[in-house]
Order: sequence, then structure tokens, then C-alpha cells
Amino acid sequence: ARRSWRERLSGSVFSRGISTLFSRHPKLDDSLLDELETTLITADVGIEASTSLVETLRKRMHKREFADADALLRALRQELIALLKPVQTSLDIAGHKPFVVLTVGINGAGKTTTIGKLARRWRDEGKQVLLAAGDTFRAAAVEQLKTWGERNQVPVISQGQDADAASVIFDALQAARSRHADVLIADTAGRLHTQGGLMDELGKIARVLKKLDADAPHEVLMVIDGTTGQNAVNQVRQFRQIVGVTGLVVTKLDGTAKGGVVFALAREFGLPIRFVGLGETATDLRVFDAEAYVDGLLP
Ligand code: GDP
Repeated sequence: ARRSWRERLSGSVFSRGISTLFSRHPKLDDSLLDELETTLITADVGIEASTSLVETLRKRMHKREFADADALLRALRQELIALLKPVQTSLDIAGHKPFVVLTVGINGAGKTTTIGKLARRWRDEGKQVLLAAGDTFRAAAVEQLKTWGERNQVPVISQGQDADAASVIFDALQAARSRHADVLIADTAGRLHTQGGLMDELGKIARVLKKLDADAPHEVLMVIDGTTGQNAVNQVRQFRQIVGVTGLVVTKLDGTAKGGVVFALAREFGLPIRFVGLGETATDLRVFDAEAYVDGLLP
């Protein structure tokens, strides 16, 4: 399984940058660290996380802790893992029945795909899954979810076009309870006419869910496109002002992604990264694993 993380991550700017740096520049000196800093910043790790990481390593180098560039690389691995470990907290859906997952995030982030992958994962674990087509702003989103549900024998609760999202999700939770479903995954709009509109809608959804279950939603899962760099960080900041995000999914980290945004997000928010998307098929949504991720990036 470890190898497959590397296969998916080896095309990233992060991975290619580090491997080029350490193959071409094996001499342990300050210029190696300067180039490392540039490489990390280029890979979307973020200025703060990059400089802080490199300064930690520089101090250790000046104390002669590293015999050679390989020792530095091992220390880099440790530091990167230490940055990600605190956000490696997997999503446990056993505590509530039905467990209600509200998925949020802007259009194109991979929300629908992620909902499909999660539904498959939990269904394959023997859980009874129900989906709520709560992105009533886009007719295509409702259709996409319904098509996915039909193909995978997962029921989807939806209403007509322009239905009230809170009403769809309320109905879906009632259905999930009467069917004794284990988990309800609700889609929501990725953009309304205004940020105020989105805020009102998500607020209303949370309020009506609480009428049926005071603890719901049990997870507000924000889906972020991992190729969007600093923009991804800004999106999380914005959504957190709208709704209490409790976990993140970072998608599209396969292929030619930069790969470093996960570190920037970990440092900036400390929010659990529940899953990462390493491809388009169902099994490509992986439970986030700090060591596997870092080992996938490093030579
Ligand atoms: P939504 O608008 O947020 O619902 O986005 P979609 O779920 O429709 O996804 C947008 C595009 O991103 C689709 O073409 C997906 O196949 C693609 N996508 C989603 N997750 C991943 C991923 O982890 N890796 C790759 N390579 N593509 C992904």
C-alpha cells in the first residue's frame, strides 16, 4: 500500500523538486538549505511552514547533527511527519446512527466525486448509506448524484429543481432514521449568488438537522482541490467563517499536483485531514496517513 502512495505522488512538484535537489546537490551546506526552502515554497508548502522547517534544519546542521545530505533528508522526513501527525485523525462514524456528514466546498473541488467514493467505502464495509442531494442550486449536481446512486445501489433522496436544500436534507435524515441507515452523506451548494446566501443556507441546514438530532451534523467535511495552493487555504478560512468545519478532504493530489498544500493546511488550521484524493476511482480516496504521505513524496 505504501508503494502505491509513492506511485500517485511521485509526479508532484514536491517529489520531483526534492529528488532533483538531493541527487544533484549532495553537498551539505547553507546553499542546499536555501534551495530546499525554495523547493518547498514552490511546492505550495507555504512561506511560513517552509521557512520554519528550514530554519529548524539549519540550526541542527550548524550543530553538526548531520553527517551528510542523507542525514539531512532523514531529518526532513521526521519534521514533515511531525507537521502532519497532529492532523491525522480518521473519521469514526460508529458513534451515531445515522451518522450525518455534511459535505461543503466550492464547485469543482471534487465534492460529488468524494461523496461517491465515501458512499462506496462505507457500503463496502457493510454500512447502510443514504445520500441527500442538497446542492439544489445546480440541477446537474442533483443528476450527477442520482446517476451515481443508481449505478452503485445507494439510495439518493432528492426533490425537484430549486427545492429548498434544508428541506431535502431534513427529509433525508428522516428517511435515514426510519430505514435505520448507518450514515447519511449530504451534498450542499458549492456557491450561491452571494456569500451571505451560502451562509444562510448552510446555517438553515444545520438548524433543521438539529430538530431531529441535537448533535447533527456529526461531521462538516470540507472538500478542497489540492491543486489550488494558497487559494485552498483561503477557501478553508472563508468556509470556517460560514460553518464549523470539522474535517478536510484534499483532492487531486495525484498526477502533477504540487503536493505541498497539505502541510500549509496542517500548519494554518490544525483541522483533521480525514481523506486525500489520489485519483479518480473509488479506491483512490485514502484515509489520510502522515507517514505514507511523506514517504510517498520523498526519494
Ligand atoms: P464538485 O463540483 O465539487 O462536485 O466536483 P466533482 O466531484 O464533479 O469533481 C470535479 C473533477 O475533479 C472531476 O473530473 C473529478 O473526476 C475530478 N476529481 C475529483 N477528485 C479527484 C482526485 O482525487 N484526483 C483526480 N485526478 N481527479 C479528481
